[in-house]
Parts: sequence; C-alpha cells; structure tokens
Amino acid sequence: MVTAPVMVSRAGWGARPPKSVTMLAKLPTPKLILHHTASDGQDEPSMRAIQTFHMDVRGWRDIAYHYVFDNDSPDVDLFVGRGAGVEGAATLNNNDDSHAICVMGNYEGDTPSPLLLERIAHLVAWGHEQGWWPLGFTGGHRDYGSTSCPGDNLHELIGSINDRAEAIYEGDDMPQFTPEEEAFLKGIVARAVEVKVAANEMPRGEQLFRSLKSKLSLGDVSTDKVAEVLVTAVQGPPGEKGDKGDPGAPGKPGAPGAPGAPGVGEKGDPGEPGKPGEKGDPGPAPTSATGTIEISGITYP
Ligand SMILES: [Zn+2]
Repeated sequence: MVTAPVMVSRAGWGARPPKSVTMLAKLPTPKLILHHTASDGQDEPSMRAIQTFHMDVRGWRDIAYHYVFDNDSPDVDLFVGRGAGVEGAATLNNNDDSHAICVMGNYEGDTPSPLLLERIAHLVAWGHEQGWWPLGFTGGHRDYGSTSCPGDNLHELIGSINDRAEAIYEGDDMPQFTPEEEAFLKGIVARAVEVKVAANEMPRGEQLFRSLKSKLSLGDVSTDKVAEVLVTAVQGPPGEKGDKGDPGAPGKPGAPGAPGAPGVGEKGDPGEPGKPGEKGDPGPAPTSATGTIEISGITYP
C-alpha cells in the first residue's frame, strides 16, 4: 500500500471556492498529464496568484490543475488544486478524460530537484492506487497541444518518473535519503549493534536490554520495531534472497534476507552471555546481513 502524501489543503493555501464543479464522468482517467507553471512563483502566494489568474483573467471555474508542486528546495510542497475526480482546465480538448499535475517553475531552464521528482512519483503511485489515473504520466502538455509545457528539463524525465512511480506502487515506498541522512541512520544502526554486542558480554545484559526497551518505548512501538524500521530505512526493505544490500546504495530494494531467519545469537540466551561467534565486528556489521538479523533480533520480551 502506498502511503498518502503530505499535502497542503485548499484551506491551507487560502483558495477561493470554485465558481462551479463538474465531476469527471469516469475514473480512472485514461490520461495523466504533466505541466509546469512557466513562472518563478513558489509556495502559497503563487497558488493564490495562479488561481486568481485562471479564474479572473482566463475566466475558468477554478485553478486549472488537480495538484501542484513547488520546487522550493529544500522543501517541496504539494498543493491540492481542483483535486482528483473534478474536471480540470489545464489541457485543452483533453480535460474531460485527464488529470493534470503541475510543477511551479519554468523547466525550459530550471532543473527539478531529486526530492521533487521523488514526490511527483509518489503522488502518481498513490493516485493510481486510489483509482484516479494510470500508473504513470501518459505525456506532458506538449504531447497534447501546441506548447513547450512542461519544459524540456521536466519532459525528458517523464520516463524515469514513471519508472519510479511503478517501483513505489510495487512496494518500494522508502524515501530516497541524502548522503548526510544516510550516514546519520547508519551511525544509529552501528551503535545499536555495538550496544547489543556489549550487552551480550555482560552478566546482566538481558535485564539491561529489557530495561532499555521499557525506557525507550514510544506508545505501542517497541524498540525492536524501531530498530527494524531503522535497518529497513538504511538498507531497504527485505527483498530477494541473497541480495546483500550494497552499503553504497541507499534505499535500494532487495536488501538482506528475511530478518526472521534463524541467526546466531538471535535470542540471546540469558544463560550463555558472550557466546563465541556472536561478537562480530561492530564496523561492517550494520551493512551486512548479519547486522540486520542481530538488530531486528533484539527480542527480550
Ligand atoms: Zn501545461
């Protein structure tokens, strides 16, 4: 299941009510079309300006697009335009069987950020799952009319956006991390491994872990779950067997085998602390399959 993207609601950007609303006759629409605004404006003020232009100058019912992104790094906001299921006005002669997603900026010269592309792909995957549109853009505005929209630099990426949307839809819903974020997460995992190894060598290791777990509990979320989430975040979700997550490849699917696989010292028998072979080098452990098993195996009920 694709998680719902975070969006700025119409109330959130201060939208005027539409003059009227016509619902699309049939969902999913056969077409999903990518646009750019071809202007510099970003954020909420730009949403209001576009809406005013479309309603008061163009004479349309509402802002033309269904969803709009800004490209205002490091934040990328997603704004609700007309919203899915409503007939839009962005693509002449195609408005009764399409949805339109628009990006603020002029991509004849601007460059879309990696985060922007990731968020677009996420919206495409999620909206497809909602039954609104196909799993990927069927084209840019220029493929349906005489315009340069959505700009060369965005139009040429439609294929890769669609590939990413498909991957997200298939279950690879992990965000793409920056190198700094990845290093931070790997550091946490490395320490978790170190702590477990150290605890196993102590006479009261199990009790210490149990105590740590209760101290760290966040509602119903156990430390096991937190560790599992961290490992998945760094190494990608459990994938095909034998594909050892390359430490240099962030967020790739197909990381180390099932965390539940029987592993050395998975349960940390209280009677035998510090079993040989359990120690493992704290260095490479977090990026190896062993690291995964050890961490997700921190199970002290
Ligand atoms: Zn357009």
